[in-house]
Amino acid sequence: MSETAPAAKRKMPQHTKIFVGLLLGAMAGAIAQSVLPEGTANQALKDFNANWATPLGDIFLYLIFMVVVPLLFSALVNGVAEIGEAAKVGRTGLRALLLTIILSGIAVGIGLGGVNLVKPGAGISDAERERLTAGINAEEAKKKAEVKAEADEPPVWGIIPKNPLKEANRALTGGILPFMFFALVFGLALAAVEPERAAPVKNFIEGLFLVSQKMVEFAMKYAPIGVFFLVFRAASSLGANAVVAVGQYVILVLAALALHMFVTYPIFLKFVAKRDPVQFFRQCKEVILTAFSTSSSNATLPVALRVAEQEVGLPRKTSSFVLTVGATANQNGTALFEGITILFLAQFAGVNLDFSQQLTIMGLAILAGIGTAGVPGGAWPMIGVILAKFGIPVELIGVVIGIDRILDMSRTVLNVVGDITIAACVSGMEGGGVAIPEGVD
Ligand code: ASP
Repeated sequence: MSETAPAAKRKMPQHTKIFVGLLLGAMAGAIAQSVLPEGTANQALKDFNANWATPLGDIFLYLIFMVVVPLLFSALVNGVAEIGEAAKVGRTGLRALLLTIILSGIAVGIGLGGVNLVKPGAGISDAERERLTAGINAEEAKKKAEVKAEADEPPVWGIIPKNPLKEANRALTGGILPFMFFALVFGLALAAVEPERAAPVKNFIEGLFLVSQKMVEFAMKYAPIGVFFLVFRAASSLGANAVVAVGQYVILVLAALALHMFVTYPIFLKFVAKRDPVQFFRQCKEVILTAFSTSSSNATLPVALRVAEQEVGLPRKTSSFVLTVGATANQNGTALFEGITILFLAQFAGVNLDFSQQLTIMGLAILAGIGTAGVPGGAWPMIGVILAKFGIPVELIGVVIGIDRILDMSRTVLNVVGDITIAACVSGMEGGGVAIPEGVD
């Protein structure tokens, strides 16, 4: 009998727990706001938010942030080293890299276009915004001032660092781009070193990547509690407008993902891979279901490898390389999602991002597609870093992370189908496209 209890307990999946945390936090926050005298302005509520809800929510965010530097470094170096090695081997790598950049660029472009058009975060009133971000902005401004004082040797064009360790030190407050640049060059150099001599460093960095992923997993265990408090604070400072804004955001993300999946991919499949897109999607059915249910490109890799070869009929040489590298290095869905989320939260916080800042976000989101781990919630560390870079309160992550699972499931489908699409395109460019007779399943 005692065996059934833990088994039953284990059954509630982590994402459901996070969702429950979100619901309870939202309900408790809304109730606190409406039953306390003077609502949001109530001193006891303010004190509770400052002394309890904020630190207990921050624990979750900080558990994620502390892994950003090793995670990003190891993921980028691994990804770039693999692409670099492949480029050495032949044109396959270069073609895959080029397609990755083009497809990710289109994905982020769709996301940014959509969020500028719909402006889901703009419906928040100034008073609500002030209540939510009151204590945060002052702190943020203070931190930024400290960073400015520290950055006495600014990176060239804001990208090429003199001292990467210093940039790692301020990764969460603006140093992330130069730090990523360092990781890119490190990965390229690693690929250029003789394989036997590079092996110890490669193995170490691969190990570092696995450990960092585990740390994110640990943080996700605390997520239900962290999300409860983050959402409590948001809900007790915001009104119904926030719910409408988040609803619009969810619909926008899903619509943009659908556009990329059912318009961009088919165009590339038809004209570059020379394949029938409808049939291609049918062949990928199993991959789509696995990616959707696991929310993890890495976990879907074995299925993707088999399907690419046996169902889609791609040559093993091309597909095994493109898919293995692509599981971490090509994440169209994630890049699109990150672009939308950052702009949405900026609108939510009332932070105005001009065109050139949006272009920087586009570049960062494309790089983030390479530097994001293919695990559930892998996108969040990078989102936190980009938010901090633009002075958007990272606590706002609490507004959306509770409903992330469904978005994560959907973007992971695009990540994996994008890998197979690229493999099909590369194979098509190499003359391996399969002409499929019309109307045949
Ligand atoms: N879950 C995604 C993947 O594995 C990563 C993310 O966007 O969070 O592809």
